[in-house]
Amino acid sequence: MYDVGATVWMLVTRFVTTPVACDTCGSTGKVTISGEEFTCPNCAGQRVTGTEKETIAQSVEIKRLLVKKTVDGTQIRYEGVRNGRGGVVISEGNVFATKAAAEAAIPAP
Ligand SMILES: [Zn+2]
Repeated sequence: MYDVGATVWMLVTRFVTTPVACDTCGSTGKVTISGEEFTCPNCAGQRVTGTEKETIAQSVEIKRLLVKKTVDGTQIRYEGVRNGRGGVVISEGNVFATKAAAEAAIPAP
């Protein structure tokens, strides 16, 4: 069991986004003019969401423990904030103590 304030890791699966095909910027979304970097005027640095998925480890700071007692025992879930990007609730089985442990649990593609 982890404490409030602890930083743990969870796995997040998301679709991979890639820059749109663009000859002006070589699909980087950026152009360099006189040594300064600008957003490409041709593609506006747009990215498209592909159909490929990737699973990454994300850190979560635990804000609250949600403990539920049931006839089957005690269920623990964690309410946390990941990378300052809003709340998330994870069950105990999906929490990892370290990034390495989380990454070791990523299923092979
Ligand atoms: Zn471009």
